[in-house]
Amino acid sequence: QEADIGLIGLGVMGENLALNIADNGYTVAVYNRTAGKVDAFLDNAGPLRGNVMGSGELAAFVGMLKRPRSVIIMVQAGDPVDAVIAQLRPLLAEGDVIIDAGNANYHDTVRRFSELDGTGIGFLGIGVSGGEEGARHGPSIMVGGSEAQWKNAEAVLTAIAAKFNGESCCAYLGTGGAGHFVKTIHNGIEYADMQMIAEIYGVMRDGLGMTPDACAKVFADWNKGPLDSYLIEITGHVLAAMDEKTGQPLVDVIVDAAGQKGTGRWSAIEALNLGVSATTIEGAVAARSISAIKAERERGEALYGAGMKGKATISLEALEKALLAGKIAAYAQGFAVMAKASEEHGWNLPLDTIAKIWRAGCIIRSRFLDQISKAFEAGSSDNLLTQPSFVSMMTESNGALRAVVATCAVNELPAPCLSSALAYFDAYRQGRGTTNLTQGQRDFFGAHGFRRIGEEGDFHHSWPSLVEGAQQP
Ligand code: NDP
Repeated sequence: QEADIGLIGLGVMGENLALNIADNGYTVAVYNRTAGKVDAFLDNAGPLRGNVMGSGELAAFVGMLKRPRSVIIMVQAGDPVDAVIAQLRPLLAEGDVIIDAGNANYHDTVRRFSELDGTGIGFLGIGVSGGEEGARHGPSIMVGGSEAQWKNAEAVLTAIAAKFNGESCCAYLGTGGAGHFVKTIHNGIEYADMQMIAEIYGVMRDGLGMTPDACAKVFADWNKGPLDSYLIEITGHVLAAMDEKTGQPLVDVIVDAAGQKGTGRWSAIEALNLGVSATTIEGAVAARSISAIKAERERGEALYGAGMKGKATISLEALEKALLAGKIAAYAQGFAVMAKASEEHGWNLPLDTIAKIWRAGCIIRSRFLDQISKAFEAGSSDNLLTQPSFVSMMTESNGALRAVVATCAVNELPAPCLSSALAYFDAYRQGRGTTNLTQGQRDFFGAHGFRRIGEEGDFHHSWPSLVEGAQQP
């Protein structure tokens, strides 16, 4: 018996993805650098044992695969992926395809495409979202590469992906690094979504003096309304959890220093490179960075005092609406980054499909994404803030966002992401901004020129010299 597909890397994700493939009736062969994991995997495959095979020896593993061979790589992102590709190459033949399913930086994916170009060995860069559970029972899968290669892997990937109303959450999105780029932006949006939830929790805890249990009940309630999403749901569970060791709410014994593996930061960097505002994502990345300098923050608190406690007067209804408005701004930014990247790279990214395949399987899955997919359904790539259904939602909810950001400012509570969302909205709907002054300054010190209202061409002003002794205006 030969395997339909191969999988390299039995980490948390790889192991679960392999079981998922087997569960869907395909035969999967596995390989892992540390051979013991292959034996353990096969021993623990239980009822799926008939659909899995494997070897701790790479050539033997490759020999188990049906031709043309498809090999998924699910190892630590970065150099390990290059190492595995280098080991695989001599063992593969024309027509075979390597599928990198890790969280690759899309620039690496583009490089890997060009390195394999002309070898006859195909490549796909796919983003897989949903963590351990998604990998096991159905992740969201974002595919990038050539359409011909995609056809080879389509049946398996479509089958193992999550389903939303019966539709697979796996789609081909574009050539080259498109899949990994979209996964990167997905993670950036995830950062912003999580940070805004944390900021709202901060208002509840510090501004309103609510207990974790009381907060948990509010989030559980919100999960029945427009914020209905996986992240809101798990927030309720995290806040309700009790610590067995101390008997205290678990969230109260967890250190407030967040980790990050890089995808949120890449997302912000790509937005900056493309010249698209993604301040909610930047705010979320910065919030994690400042969270990590805990000792310094403690010194800061000793110097300036902590924010006010229990003095806020905001309603829970306003907090719910503010979170919705903040979320709209964050998703508007994320989708604007993808629209711009699509234009730059000629990817023709289907924004409605992206929203669709994020409706299930991934961490940001929500009712909200169904609304986004409908907004982009007509093929429009205009900013979400201009899509009619979102105009009415934002019109209805931005006042609450303003009230919450104002409450945070007055009560000395940090809200980097929510306040960025509000600033973005206010800048986005300001027809006459203030960079006319910036242009004046740029012309003053650098003769950069400016455009005049209602006139074509580039203009300069004759500015006075500020050299000492020269005449002042
Ligand atoms: P890790 O990122 O922890 O990677 C572990 C696997 O990588 C092991 O199989 C390990 O082999 C292998 N590996 C590491 N270095 C090498 C190397 N130089 N050569 C060969 N194999 C190597 O595992 P995860 O399952 O967490 O993640 C896999 C990928 O999926 C990553 O790109 C990650 O970013 C991405 N991802 C992870 C998610 C998650 O929730 N964990 C969610 C979505 C994507 P060995 O056993 O020999 O050490």
